[in-house]
Amino acid sequence: MAPANRSTETFYITTPIYYVNDRPHIGHSYTTIAADCLARYHRLRGEQVLFTTGTDEPGQKVARSAAARDMAPQEFADEVVEAFKLMWERLHIDYDRFIRTTDPNHVKVVQHLFRRLVDSGEIYVGQYQGWYCVPCETYLPASELQDGACPQCGRQVEEVAEPAYFFRTSQYADRLLRYIEEHPEFIMPSSRRNEVRTFIEGGMRDACVTRARTEWDIPVPTDDSQSIYVWLDALTNYLTVVGYPDDQYFQTWWPPQVQLIGKDILTRFHGTLWPAVLMALDLPLPETIFAHGWWITDEGDKMSKSKGNVLDPYEIARQLVNISDATTAVAVDSLRYFLLREVPFGLDGSFSWPALLTRFNADLANDLGNLLNRTLPLMERYLDSRVPQPGPGAGELADQIDITRTAVEEAMAQIDFRAALEAIWQLIAAGNKLLDERAPWNLYKDAKLVELEAVLYDVLDCIRVIAIMIGPFMPAIADEIREQLGLEAAGTSQTWAACQAQQLPPGIHIRRGKPIFPRVDVKRSLSRLPARAKPADNDQPSAQPPAGTTVTIDQFNQLELKVGVIVEAHRVPAADKLLRLLVDIGEDQPRQIVAGLADQFNPRELLNQRVILVANLEPTTIRGIESQGMILAVGDEEPIAVVTTNRECPPGSTVR
Ligand SMILES: [Zn+2]
Repeated sequence: MAPANRSTETFYITTPIYYVNDRPHIGHSYTTIAADCLARYHRLRGEQVLFTTGTDEPGQKVARSAAARDMAPQEFADEVVEAFKLMWERLHIDYDRFIRTTDPNHVKVVQHLFRRLVDSGEIYVGQYQGWYCVPCETYLPASELQDGACPQCGRQVEEVAEPAYFFRTSQYADRLLRYIEEHPEFIMPSSRRNEVRTFIEGGMRDACVTRARTEWDIPVPTDDSQSIYVWLDALTNYLTVVGYPDDQYFQTWWPPQVQLIGKDILTRFHGTLWPAVLMALDLPLPETIFAHGWWITDEGDKMSKSKGNVLDPYEIARQLVNISDATTAVAVDSLRYFLLREVPFGLDGSFSWPALLTRFNADLANDLGNLLNRTLPLMERYLDSRVPQPGPGAGELADQIDITRTAVEEAMAQIDFRAALEAIWQLIAAGNKLLDERAPWNLYKDAKLVELEAVLYDVLDCIRVIAIMIGPFMPAIADEIREQLGLEAAGTSQTWAACQAQQLPPGIHIRRGKPIFPRVDVKRSLSRLPARAKPADNDQPSAQPPAGTTVTIDQFNQLELKVGVIVEAHRVPAADKLLRLLVDIGEDQPRQIVAGLADQFNPRELLNQRVILVANLEPTTIRGIESQGMILAVGDEEPIAVVTTNRECPPGSTVR
């Protein structure tokens, strides 16, 4: 149990702020759902909770993405921020504050912090000599490159030799190691703690904390030629959002109880640079930084945009609605359940439809759904839908409820969502078992009414407790269960303290609704899903062949797909949607292609772009211009992106 200090009353939890170069996907969603679950749990316990998330907006990568779409960086960022906020609403995320690093107040705080560290000598001017990965926004010494590329993402790095400011991270190495040793809860899980320790012991260099000035960055307050390094800027959000440096609010909330992050941003950033900066500022460190694993696809690849295997959680929920007739809210909660139950929070998980549907059927429809769907009709039939007095013989599940409550508390203190859910499912099993053993239908037949009332009261009361316990994981489903128990109408409040037996008010009316979890026919459903349940497929539902249609590898091989480079691009006069492109595919002459891209792309943006061309498509004439092939684009009706390759490939390379 937590000691009886301030942290039992306030609970400050953060997600990383997400980089706006990317649309929200399952990686962001996993962290945010987990944070939401913890936040809701601590609110249930009556604590004051502050749950923050937000977006990280400066950086070269964002400036380049914006330029590629002919947008100003701010305009581009605003659009992506809306996409994140919409995703959080859809996934039932109830955050307290959303911080953007472009908020004017944040810029002030970052500059204040930087100036303070310069004044105290913690930041000094030097010369950076080495490499920089723009997609990762990471400085890399030559010794860390792998085959000349970024060790994290495998992409090309840029050579950098420029004056820069450095933060004295190296001076904090020993203190940090000692701190990690003395506070095992500081970095979790323990496997990650060891990674950080090894990283520090490998020799921590001072961190380069500026870059040559660009427009879309926070400038160094005393030096126009330099911008503050995006990671220093990003980490500072955790201070800004609680009013650093001198707000009363800051005193109330600092330090965070839990900072959830993905494992990729632990060693270099949250596990070293971040605590070192806090030490330099004389601030207490966060109580726990928890680095969770990644969701990978069936094939075992980490999801990444360049691999085209990024999962969109809302899209998954929508597909689940299609195949199960569950409501959208139930489908979203079912996905939340799956993500937090399927794998231990620190490890990598592999997303697959069969696994999701099995959880849906076995855990949700069978175990939880059945408990509700068996009990409520019995209430209607035997007790006129009115909750009876507990009476003599009731309270059979009281011990199991106490055991479960303690187990969930212990699991949640360890940020072990899976263990918490497993404990709750034992209580569900106990409720189902009591129904089986006491067989209310026989009690009714034998006119044992007192016993009948006791059993049904116990099971209903158990469902009430379960609805509280699953609330942090599946808030909409918990509400629906409370609704069906008549608790909402009776105006009973929902608190963790009420997770005890015999708190269900007698006399209230249950209101049975439709079954919450319609069972799914897994085999039939899988055949109705796209062959590979990935957004690349989901982006074009109308282009899906009818269920069951397949092509043979021979049929596929009949397509001649080639890498091409667009060498000329012009609008087709008097045809709004059409562009005439010349595409070099390594033949004597570039191919002429007429493509319906003009609505979404301006010709300049497509110049020198690498594309995939269907080279053996029968030539056709559009608006009097011959089109000798087709380039692959993404999008339902309007093309939203052209398909390109993630590495340089010469024109004419075969695509298979
Ligand atoms: Zn990289």
